[in-house]
Amino acid sequence: MADTARPTRIRVDLDALSHNLRVLRGHVGVPVMGIVKANAYGHGLVPVARHLQAQGVEQLGVAFLEEGVALRQAGITLPILVMGGIFGPQAADLIRHGLEITVSSLDKLRQVEAAAEALGRPATIHLKVDTGMERIGVHSYNAGPFIEAALASRWCRLKGIYSHLACADDPDSPMTAWQLERFLEACAHFERVGAPMPVRHLANSGGVLHFPGTHLDMVRPGIALYGVLPDAAARPPVRLRPAMSLVSQVVYFKVVPAGHPVSYGATWAPATDTRVVTVPIGYGDGYPRSLSSRGEVLIRGRRRPIIGRICMDQFMVDIGPDGTAYNEDEVVLIGRQGDQEIRCEDVAEAAGTIPYEILVGLNGRIPRDYVGG
Ligand SMILES: *Cc1c(COP(=O)(O)O)cnc(C)c1O
Repeated sequence: MADTARPTRIRVDLDALSHNLRVLRGHVGVPVMGIVKANAYGHGLVPVARHLQAQGVEQLGVAFLEEGVALRQAGITLPILVMGGIFGPQAADLIRHGLEITVSSLDKLRQVEAAAEALGRPATIHLKVDTGMERIGVHSYNAGPFIEAALASRWCRLKGIYSHLACADDPDSPMTAWQLERFLEACAHFERVGAPMPVRHLANSGGVLHFPGTHLDMVRPGIALYGVLPDAAARPPVRLRPAMSLVSQVVYFKVVPAGHPVSYGATWAPATDTRVVTVPIGYGDGYPRSLSSRGEVLIRGRRRPIIGRICMDQFMVDIGPDGTAYNEDEVVLIGRQGDQEIRCEDVAEAAGTIPYEILVGLNGRIPRDYVGG
C-alpha cells in the first residue's frame, strides 16, 4: 500500500476464516458448502473463495450466475451451487461454466433440461423444496411429482435436494423442527420410489449452530464462517473469530465550543467545550447513516461516540474535554483496539439492523487488505 493511499481499510483475517471453517466442520462432521454470495459477505469474493478452496472446503454457494462466473474466471475449480432462482435463458450459461443449478419448479427443470440437451452437456442440479419460507422452491407437499420428473430427466444429473430455514437464528423457534420434518418427508419420496438419495442440505449458520438435526449430508454456513453470529443473543456452541475489521485514521482535530452544533442538520451540540475529531469514512462507503449520534468507535483504546449526522465521506467523534488524539491515530470501527472490541453485531444493533446488512453494505470504495493465510 502506498503511503498516500486512503487509510480507511477493511482488514480480512484469513486465519480467522480457516479457524471458523475448522471448528464449524468439527461441530457438524459433514461436508461444508461455504456461502460466498454478496462479495463473500463483504470480505471479497475471489480472495475468500481461493482461501476456502485451499483450506479444503467441499463446495461453494453463491446467489447469482454472475457470482459463479466470476469464481470460474478466477480459476476456482470447486463445485459451485447457484442458489437463487434462475431465469430460463441463464440455463445455458450456468451449464457452460460448470455451475450447479438450483431447480425450483417443474418449469425450470424443463428449461434446464432443454438447455443441457441443446448443448449436449448434462446439467448438475439441486432440487429446491419450500418448507416454510415461501420464497422459491416447490412446496414440500407437492415434492413427489417434482422429484419423479427430475429422476426421469435425461440431461439433468440430480446431485442434491435442499430447503432453507426461516427462523434458525432463534434457538427457541419451533419453526425449524417443522421445516426439518417437512423436508425429511419430501426426501422420503426417494425411498418410496426406490431411487438413491441425493445430498440433502438444509442448515444455514443458525441451523449449524443451534439445530444439529438439520445438519444432514452437508451444511451451508455463510455468516458464521466469517465469525459473526446470526443472532447476537444466542449462545454459540463453538468459538468463532470475526474475520473482518474496519479501520480508519483521524484526519482532523479541533475544539468545539459549548452550544456549537456539529454536522448536517445541526442535530447535536456539546454542553461544554469539547474535543472533536473527524474520521474520513461515511455512508458513501456503506457505513450506515443510521449510526448518526448512535455509533461508537475506538480511538487510543477508548470507546468514543459518533456525534451528529454521518456524512457521505466523513463523520465526527467526541473525545471529551480532556481526550487526546492526533491526526493519523488509528480509528477502529469494527474490530479490536487495546482491550476494547466493537463487534459487527454491536454496530448492527446500534444501527437498528442485522449484522448481515452491515457486512454486505461496506462497498468497493473501501480497499480490502488480507492478512494471515
Ligand atoms: C444466504 C444463504 C445461506 C447462508 O445463510 P447464513 O445465515 O449466512 O448462514 C444458506 N442457504 C441459502 C439458500 C442462502 O440463501
